[in-house]
Amino acid sequence: MHVPPPPEGFQGRNVRRGVDEGYDGAVYQYAYSSHRDEELIQPRAVIYPTDDSDVFKAMDYATKYKLGIAIRTGGHSYCGSSSTNGYNLQLDLSQTYTDFTWDNVDHTQVTLGVSITLSRLQSKLRHKNRFIPTGQCSYVNLGGHLHTGGYGQLTRSFGLLADYIQKIRIITANPPEARWVDRNVAEDKKLFRAILGGSPGNFGVVTDVTLNVLRDEDHPLSRGLRCVFLYKEETLKKLLDVLVEQDDDDNTPGDYDFIISLMSKREEEEDRPAAVIVVFAQWANLRGPGQEYNPEFFNKIREAGGGRAHMLPFHGLKLDDEQMAMSGLCSHWVFDMVREYQLPYYKRLYMSDSRSIDLKEKDWPTWAAKRVQALEGNIDDGLYIGGQFQYCGGHQSRLRIKDRDNLTSLSWRDSNFGCTLDAFYDYPGDFMQRKALRSEPESKASRDALARVKKAAKEWVEKNDKEGIAEQRFTKEDRRLFWGAYDQDLVATRKFYYDQEPHKYDELSTLKQQLDPNYIFTANKFSIGPHPPRLMQKVSLANVIDYQIEHSGTRPTTIK
Ligand SMILES: Cc1cc2nc3c(=O)[nH]c(=O)nc-3n(C[C@H](O)[C@H](O)[C@H](O)COP(=O)(O)OP(=O)(O)OC[C@H]3O[C@@H](n4cnc5c(N)ncnc54)[C@H](O)[C@@H]3O)c2cc1C
Repeated sequence: MHVPPPPEGFQGRNVRRGVDEGYDGAVYQYAYSSHRDEELIQPRAVIYPTDDSDVFKAMDYATKYKLGIAIRTGGHSYCGSSSTNGYNLQLDLSQTYTDFTWDNVDHTQVTLGVSITLSRLQSKLRHKNRFIPTGQCSYVNLGGHLHTGGYGQLTRSFGLLADYIQKIRIITANPPEARWVDRNVAEDKKLFRAILGGSPGNFGVVTDVTLNVLRDEDHPLSRGLRCVFLYKEETLKKLLDVLVEQDDDDNTPGDYDFIISLMSKREEEEDRPAAVIVVFAQWANLRGPGQEYNPEFFNKIREAGGGRAHMLPFHGLKLDDEQMAMSGLCSHWVFDMVREYQLPYYKRLYMSDSRSIDLKEKDWPTWAAKRVQALEGNIDDGLYIGGQFQYCGGHQSRLRIKDRDNLTSLSWRDSNFGCTLDAFYDYPGDFMQRKALRSEPESKASRDALARVKKAAKEWVEKNDKEGIAEQRFTKEDRRLFWGAYDQDLVATRKFYYDQEPHKYDELSTLKQQLDPNYIFTANKFSIGPHPPRLMQKVSLANVIDYQIEHSGTRPTTIK
């Protein structure tokens, strides 16, 4: 393949590989820790558009040279789908679309740019006593989050972030234009549905959205419970029993949301015990003033954790069945950390179609607690866990009933339970041993030690897959979601990400081909198909760098 010239002429920053200072910082994103060595996160250049005109220039460049553009806003994709390699460009929107305008006097509708973190969004809404369902990581950006749905503490009571989107502004390749796509306009519905869960980043550049937001005053009696219990296998099992029992009754009120999270001790947290169980529970007062509250569910959680005396604050804050406005509760349901650990990982998100009767028959709570203990048992083995368990089922669940008109393509909305089981890995040993290995990363001892821990992490995850899915301890069907995607090839794994196969996938794929006939928004294999032949070509990275150096007239500051 002929090497195309370096991208030039943008108003915004353009950080070219092998030429410009700051390339390593510019390409860093969440998946870098796991996928750097596979050379998946090595765009030819990262460009920071100032406005739409730079986006159009990038599209012209990509069309002319038959390249791909990976779109990144917050960079939280686990599998690195917002990055690319070879001659392809990365378009970074983290600073570009920042408008925020209330559309009406009662502050129930807002139009805003996608370049905003979830914690900033929540805080702006809270200022007006408003809230909306979102995920739980403070630094995730709206840009990717709206595409992957927005699953979190409010999923059962209020549904997903995507369910509240009214209009989306998108820049498409064919025709090359910026346009608004409206939930209520018949001819927009296909594209609207495709953006929300169809295949993130592959239909065009989303710049702004209009959201309907919820009012605190409609849920004046809402209550929350937030605390930490010290991790013990037995405590986790008892809490999981409570979670499973929520599904005993098809009509468990939609007011209840309950998420159990697990976190290993981090290296820097010297004064902390090995692991903690973080519990977030909420009663949403969906029917408003006059609705009767029954404390029985929160009491069960407290008892399972060992009683009130064992409830510890999480990051200095505890709620013990306290009444609080929904917007205030939402500020308690986010994890204020950029990432769980600064480590590579194997991630898994499983959705389950099992009912409580199935999980009891398979004794899933005991199995899950044992699987956690298998990783958590020895704190010097270099393995760290990230885990979450959630009930999202029943007839009253808004996950199920909020999208009856099929206005999103987010799959598996009839799931009853969700679970993440992630393994992070590091050098093994005590503090001094880890320090010694880290100081010589290229030595045989260090490489061997890390390879051993990596293998153990992989085996742990694969055993969970085998027992949890193939042996149906957790789910009868392998159901994956885009927000927790861990695969590299979407075409090969599509049956796990799309329900209504093949109908939904085929419809989305047809639309993709109409909107983007040159596949400029297909910059990696975690993209809806068909995949253009260039994704299969191995590009010589030396070529890219040599060419860029030759044509820039400067010495490279970084070559990676
Ligand atoms: C620590 C952590 C915790 C998380 N917790 C949750 C959670 O509780 N709930 C939940 O639902 N999710 C959660 N996620 C997943 C996260 O919500 C998704 O990965 C989300 O898509 C990230 O958006 P982003 O803009 O930050 O990421 P990016 O990596 O920039 O984008 C993710 C995807 O969206 C595409 N995209 C991004 N911006 C645009 C745009 N403007 N136009 C078109 N395509 C675009 C990208 O190409 C990519 O495929 C978590 C992720 C992490 C790392």
